[in-house]
Amino acid sequence: MKYLAKSDSQINTLVSEELKRQKDELEMIASENYASEAVLETMGTVLSNKYSEGYPDKRYYGGNQIIDKIEQLAINRAQTLFEADHANVQPHSGSQANQAVYLALLNPGDKILAMDLACGGHLSHGAKVNLTGKIYDVYFYGVDKETGLINYDDVAKLAKIHKPKLIIAGATAYPRQINFDRFRQIADSVGAYLMVDMAHFAGLVAAKVYPDPVPFADVVTSTTHKTLRGPRGGFILCKKHLGEQIDKAVFPGLQGGPLDNIIAAKAVCFKEAAALKFKKYQEQIIRNAKILSLVFANNGIKIITNGTDTHLILLDVTSIGLSGGQAEKILEKIGIIANKNLIPYDTRSAKDPSGLRLGTPALTTRGMKENEMKTIGQMICDLLKNPNDKKIVEKSKKKVKELTKKFPIYKDLEY
Ligand SMILES: *Cc1c(COP(=O)(O)O)cnc(C)c1O
Repeated sequence: MKYLAKSDSQINTLVSEELKRQKDELEMIASENYASEAVLETMGTVLSNKYSEGYPDKRYYGGNQIIDKIEQLAINRAQTLFEADHANVQPHSGSQANQAVYLALLNPGDKILAMDLACGGHLSHGAKVNLTGKIYDVYFYGVDKETGLINYDDVAKLAKIHKPKLIIAGATAYPRQINFDRFRQIADSVGAYLMVDMAHFAGLVAAKVYPDPVPFADVVTSTTHKTLRGPRGGFILCKKHLGEQIDKAVFPGLQGGPLDNIIAAKAVCFKEAAALKFKKYQEQIIRNAKILSLVFANNGIKIITNGTDTHLILLDVTSIGLSGGQAEKILEKIGIIANKNLIPYDTRSAKDPSGLRLGTPALTTRGMKENEMKTIGQMICDLLKNPNDKKIVEKSKKKVKELTKKFPIYKDLEY
């Protein structure tokens, strides 16, 4: 990055330090991944300079002939990949994709039924501290206290009581498959729209290793940067008759000019996600998460829902006498990056909850498989149980170094 080095050595140095950090640490935040070099290149192009408010062939600015082709490619690829009637690839993020859907389908004060934040829901699903919680009248369903699973009878009951206009399925910390068919039935029973937010598991859906929400939901929202492994951004899929409404809500309803560099990178990501290699990658993500959860189970650490069918695992680390924050810090010190997380019916606060969330998408991108998961899982257990044992800490640091060397990422990227 010779231009940046010349014009701003401070940022240049920090960018290169961050690249080194990403190369040298074990990334286990379930919502993160390593986008391909092709995706990164695309994000850094002159497409960023263009204003293209509007949609292909319907722009408010001149000079969009090429941008039109790019956005249309991204739209076509998203529709093909997810077999959807309509796609909007302009949302700047997952949260904005959700906001656009609310704007399209609801009026202020309308009722929403969504998953509780503490049970794995997302801030943008109507949390009190979020704009959505201030504009709409939001009711929450949780999970079963014993099993940690969504209790669909309970969702149906709440839907009958509150008569929401919109029901939201999809979560950030739910380790199991969601029954979208059942959600559709519940929505139909009260005449509600069904939105599925697949931000976390979009990659699994693209690879057909997770239930497909597209046939059941009126609208599906997503990010592109989690399991889907694309640029940081969002998109919306919907049934044909809602397409115009959704497009209008994204622009001019919510956003100004689209990020054309990011939209091009989304197109690259959708192409990557259609390849057989990507399907194998997603299958490995799940195999890795399952093995990892077995290691935790064998070490007596409580796992929410006793395991996983996805890319993520939610541990109750109070079962070994730690808070989520403590566990996060212990692992961070040796270069394993994960995040503290609320668990269902958490008795601790969101600032230092009882849970630790771990994911396998990024490690799997490095090429790690079952054997590495066993090693890493055991290392995590030993560390969490003996955080002050210097020998274990030193040994773990060495092991992290060894693993990141053996499974390098961004081999020939240099900043
Ligand atoms: C990550 C996530 C989002 C938000 O995505 P941002 O791009 O961070 O705004 C929305 N919904 C769910 C379920 C998520 O997991």
